[in-house]
Amino acid sequence: MSLLHFARTCELHVHPGGCLTAEDLIALGKDFCEDIDWRLFTDAYERAYGTRPDPIALFRDAASDPSAGLDKLREYYIYTQKDGGDFGRFQAKFNLVISLLRHPPKREELIKNALQRTINRHRKEGITFVEYRCGCSSETRDAFLDFHRISAQILSRASQGNTTARYIISLRRWAAQQDCEWVRELLDENPELIPTIVGIDFAHVEEGYPPKNNRALFKRIHQDNRKRPQRALEITYHVGESYFDKSLESAIRWCHEAAEMGARRLGHAIALGLDPEIAIARRPDAHVEERVGERLDQIAYDLNYAPALSAYGIQVNAPALRAERQTLKNRASDDLVERPYKPQRLAEIRNRQQFVLNRLARLGTVIETCPTSNLRIGGVPDPAHHPIHTFLKSDVNLAIGADDPGIFDSPLAREIDWVLAHTNWTPKALANRLGDPRRFRLGRLRPSRNHLVCP
Ligand SMILES: [Zn+2]
Repeated sequence: MSLLHFARTCELHVHPGGCLTAEDLIALGKDFCEDIDWRLFTDAYERAYGTRPDPIALFRDAASDPSAGLDKLREYYIYTQKDGGDFGRFQAKFNLVISLLRHPPKREELIKNALQRTINRHRKEGITFVEYRCGCSSETRDAFLDFHRISAQILSRASQGNTTARYIISLRRWAAQQDCEWVRELLDENPELIPTIVGIDFAHVEEGYPPKNNRALFKRIHQDNRKRPQRALEITYHVGESYFDKSLESAIRWCHEAAEMGARRLGHAIALGLDPEIAIARRPDAHVEERVGERLDQIAYDLNYAPALSAYGIQVNAPALRAERQTLKNRASDDLVERPYKPQRLAEIRNRQQFVLNRLARLGTVIETCPTSNLRIGGVPDPAHHPIHTFLKSDVNLAIGADDPGIFDSPLAREIDWVLAHTNWTPKALANRLGDPRRFRLGRLRPSRNHLVCP
């Protein structure tokens, strides 16, 4: 057994759509690529890259002559470093998968086949425990329930022998309350899927969706969990991944708030580990401006945590903050405030990162870090400045995930190898630091299976 056996065989942060390889796409769609409405992909691709691809020709060429055609398709699908840390570009490429899988006449068959391919590949790679997280863009209740029921049923069937496959439902951030209600109905109608559906997730674009908006929803979920622990749902939360709309302090605060609200695991949380000097150098005037409303939230946070922040060497000038708050309250919430960075502020931001990492460690919150994903779409400029270096040095619970191993062409094993290659941690030290990620699995609020009583 290799030293990093546990980390290599347990995947806690992965999206099934992003697991599909270019070969999978051809196998799934080659027979009816002419019938598919590709506009979701072609429009987004044209917006992001300035050229309009011809997916039908790409599919035909790859199917008839894989040696040349597959490489061509991969150019339009695999998201590499060269694509340049742009979520719009990533989404454009990801839309190739969505356009294919949502093809109406074959939707159910495609969803099943795609998920089965992903499960089979993970099994072949020796991964024995996976929590798949997946969202559904459908606006209607029936389509939402159908999609997640089909997916969970497949994973439920796949869980046998030494393979465990669990399901986390990603909610649409703009309709999280509605989606959560539908998840409850899904569990009501399909109690046999309760062991498989272990959590809910918040994914996709985070800018514009502050964790505080979900405070009431989180509270309700925790209440439900206490009332019916046998079907408790834990929360995973993508946060601090893409945050150019706000100051670095606010980005750190979002991670902290999500954890304090009770998210079990945070996806990425780059804001807690990327050095502030590197973060602000990523774009001209990066993180200098933020909305008045965001600044007011930060002021409230600083006043609330003043003693704890002071203990970390962060100066909280309460009278000055209150005066600033008074002035800002007369401005529109969407107005922008500008606060340039000085060395003292950068030093304090590093301390804020440490403060929050320590809080997370105390809360038991887990950070799921995804090396390749962070480098390619998370705006981490190079391996030397990857937040994982800070995370490894801290006491925070840490798991390594592949995120979208198909579209990044980087399976979990390669992510672990990346950590060994780009940090100075030996396999033994890293194995000790990470332990067995299965201890961070969802579903641990539920009574043990022996006592499980389906409603
Ligand atoms: Zn993710």
